[in-house]
Amino acid sequence: MNREFELVDKLEYAHSLDFDEWVYLLNNQSEELRNYAGNKADTLRKKYYGNSVYVRGLIEFTNYCKNDCYYCGIRHGNANATRYRLTKEDIMSCCKEGYELGFRTFVLQGGEDPYYTDERICDIVKSIKELYGDCAVTLSIGEKSYDSYKAYFDAGADRYLLRHETADDCHYRKLHPETMSLDNRKQCLFNLKEIGYQVGAGFMVGSPYQTKESLAKDMLFLNELKPHMVGIGPFITHHDTPFKDKENGTLEETLLLLSLVRLMLPDVLLPSTTALGTIHPLGREKGIKAGANVVMPNLSPGEVRENYLLYDNKICTGDESAQCKVCLQKRMESIGYKIETKRGDHISRQ
Ligand code: SAH
Repeated sequence: MNREFELVDKLEYAHSLDFDEWVYLLNNQSEELRNYAGNKADTLRKKYYGNSVYVRGLIEFTNYCKNDCYYCGIRHGNANATRYRLTKEDIMSCCKEGYELGFRTFVLQGGEDPYYTDERICDIVKSIKELYGDCAVTLSIGEKSYDSYKAYFDAGADRYLLRHETADDCHYRKLHPETMSLDNRKQCLFNLKEIGYQVGAGFMVGSPYQTKESLAKDMLFLNELKPHMVGIGPFITHHDTPFKDKENGTLEETLLLLSLVRLMLPDVLLPSTTALGTIHPLGREKGIKAGANVVMPNLSPGEVRENYLLYDNKICTGDESAQCKVCLQKRMESIGYKIETKRGDHISRQ
């Protein structure tokens, strides 16, 4: 058997590889290897989560951002973005609609928007938890101080998504301006964990200047952090960013990495992302079959959806929330999985 297949076997039983092994594995990708890892990953996710796919209702509540990440369509420097903020009432009505559709997790995601002070975020979180005590609230609003994270947690937030984006310092510098740092981003993740959140890290596949070595570092970092959730999707260009002429990440490499993350962190919550659905019409189905177990349909109000554009050609921007739910339900059923409407906490928190 070729070494890359043996390395997949090793990952399956030892749940870790060293740096050189990761680089070798990632340098020897093939369709056979993807299928090999994908089948093992699918078996493993079924052992922990059966054929259930958890759903999270995504509320993209602001596209204002003070940061200038070179890859992102809502970066501060993009003067062509049509900016919006949802009011607390808007957010509450998204939750109401989502609750009626059966969602029991709400993900509040946005740019780093100073308008939403800690006080405002805490007030929103408290109000959601008061009305929908059986739901989980996930925040995804970027880098904040320990005290801010603690305040949101005390207000009732359960989970936090903060992709580390890349665990390679040199690569990090190529994706972000000087004002941001990998050290700070990692520190944020460790702080979130210490406070008690279920934490999600992650990265884009195929982002500009990414190498197999940087991906190897991503895998090592994930294994050190041991997050409850891992968000992985392909990089997709946005026409109004400095990376407008770069190549997109591929479906194939994203699927392989989803499978490898499943093998490394067997009980992790792993979304099959909208970005994956954007680069291939059956991307999300393929992601689930490769070992993912979460989907995140959009609950944002119709009027603002087409303005939360992190990348070009994003899917579902013209759909109603109810349509998104039914569509995903059918997609999951078509491959023999079923949407599970309970909160869907990490196994260690159930
Ligand atoms: N401001 C929050 C939320 C960021 S948006 C934060 O900093 O965490 C959520 C994720 O979208 C990012 O973490 C990034 O990995 C992804 N993203 C941004 N631009 C993208 C692009 N062009 N292609 C694919 N994914 C992108």
